[in-house]
Amino acid sequence: MGIIIQKFGGSSVANTEKLFNVCKHIIKEKNKGKSIVVVVSAQGNTTDELIQEEKEITQKPNKREHDMLVSVGEQITIAKLAMCLKSLGYQAISYLGWQIPIITDSNFGDANITEIETSKINKDLKENKIVIVAGFQGVDKNKNITTLGRGGSDTTAIALAAALQAERCEIFKDVDGIYSEDPNKNQNAKRYETISYDKMLELSNNGAEVLHNKCIEIAQENLVKIFVKSVFKEESIGTIVGR
Ligand code: ASP
Ligand code: MG
Repeated sequence: MGIIIQKFGGSSVANTEKLFNVCKHIIKEKNKGKSIVVVVSAQGNTTDELIQEEKEITQKPNKREHDMLVSVGEQITIAKLAMCLKSLGYQAISYLGWQIPIITDSNFGDANITEIETSKINKDLKENKIVIVAGFQGVDKNKNITTLGRGGSDTTAIALAAALQAERCEIFKDVDGIYSEDPNKNQNAKRYETISYDKMLELSNNGAEVLHNKCIEIAQENLVKIFVKSVFKEESIGTIVGR
């Protein structure tokens, strides 16, 4: 059965109403018979707020403790989303990075994924469960919690798509795809229907904050097909990123 990864960022999951909106996208694909793995970020500005609270304590936090702190926002989202799906009659289970596990190096604050163990996810999918994974985090070989860098949930999603050999990875945003310029700032910005990995890397190197830059290389190496779609539209054409 085809696996689809769906990733929802912080603004898409910012409150309970938005969590239920996200459920619609998940259920739509689930009802087509797909196996669904969902990756979510921390709700709204949670991560920024955690960093703000950290600054009240120290300007130079210990790197390990920094990751221990900033990784917690995602735990709230995965639990709530699993509850929302269950309340709608679907089986769902949430996991933190270390529970999968998603193994990384020990580069705290900007860790790189080195390996993903897929057996637990595959077992849950076979049992018809929707699997919900915390974005942005992993665990190093000494069992320390690590984070992948700001915006790192995209990278979690793409790396999972590669490891699970997913049909595609859908990245939901508040705009319906990838634009030549910021559509909120320039009305004439044009939406790409398809875009190559190389062009994406170029956009991201030029500072466009479309996808977490690390994830584009992972997608290219593993030929992960990425669909960038709008979370606010039921049917969004969006942009397909691929070869
Ligand atoms: N919550 C993390 C951040 O705000 C990860 C993400 O949003 O992708 O950077
Ligand atoms: Mg975030």
